[in-house]
Amino acid sequence: MTNLLPEIAEIWQQTLNWQPTSQQQAQFQKLYELILEGNRQINLTRITDPQEFWEKHLWDSLRGIAPLLSANFSSTRPTLIDIGTGAGFPGVPATITVPNCTTTLLDSTRKKISFIDNILTELVLTNAKTLVGRAEEIGHHPQHRLAYDIALIRAVGPASVCAEYTLPLLKQGGLAIIYRGNWMDDETTALQNAVKQLGGAIESIEQFTTPLSHSIRHCVYLRKVDTTPVQFPRAIGVPAQKPL
Ligand code: SAM
Repeated sequence: MTNLLPEIAEIWQQTLNWQPTSQQQAQFQKLYELILEGNRQINLTRITDPQEFWEKHLWDSLRGIAPLLSANFSSTRPTLIDIGTGAGFPGVPATITVPNCTTTLLDSTRKKISFIDNILTELVLTNAKTLVGRAEEIGHHPQHRLAYDIALIRAVGPASVCAEYTLPLLKQGGLAIIYRGNWMDDETTALQNAVKQLGGAIESIEQFTTPLSHSIRHCVYLRKVDTTPVQFPRAIGVPAQKPL
């Protein structure tokens, strides 16, 4: 098995001002191996080249949560949810790296969640659990609505759909992190309108360049500043069909 890590270990430090411990490195390596293995049974990812995997899955996942890597969570236990986690991104790398977090990995596809269950066992990630369901339903569940400090979402839909999936799940003051590729200025105006209806505010939009292929990425950070009206999220399929 190609070793994913030695030649790129320094880039963590240079780009994120953070370095994995040897245990975290071993967990990343194991995650890569399990995904390659799982890909033979179910379609998890087309990104299998080791450096591409490192950049597009591991580094990208952690770049979005960079503000959390340096945060001092020693006295708190932040609750995270990753909505539409798929093969576990960004939620599994986040669980490995954010100190003291407890994570919920949500996806609507049962076989992907079964795969993640095995990942959590193999990586001994006792601070994470999985959930099969749709964000539109989970957002109304009393156990999950208003329950999370941080909601992550990558490659699940347009930004306003992601806002409708994430904001109802956040506690007051919580942070949604929406991972995007390109971002146009007019998207900010449209998102602002959606976020306002959902009790959120755009805190920042960060552009960054990936360290190996030098691609442009964005992360949109939304803060929950008010109550999300009870009608959100709307019924299954409606947010995607009629984005706010
Ligand atoms: N987040 C992962 C990543 O970036 O690699 C997976 C992205 S994949 C393109 C989208 C995932 O979102 C799929 O696994 C799909 O099953 C899940 N999904 C789509 N809509 C969803 C919804 N409304 N609720 C929960 N999961 C959803």
